[in-house]
Amino acid sequence: MAYSTCCGAYTTMTEMDICPDCLDHCDWESQEDIEERERDEQAENQIEEIKINKLN
Ligand SMILES: [Zn+2]
Repeated sequence: MAYSTCCGAYTTMTEMDICPDCLDHCDWESQEDIEERERDEQAENQIEEIKINKLN
């Protein structure tokens, strides 16, 4: 299963390269890629929070 990077629609047929939602050619990323990116974003948010707390 892969998600479209344009609108978040998902497909199991990335080889077709057509987004089922907007019927356009989209880039796809796997669920694993998304989870990894979310982990990175959470880590970054935590760092930002620490910075903000230090300022207050
Ligand atoms: Zn799309």
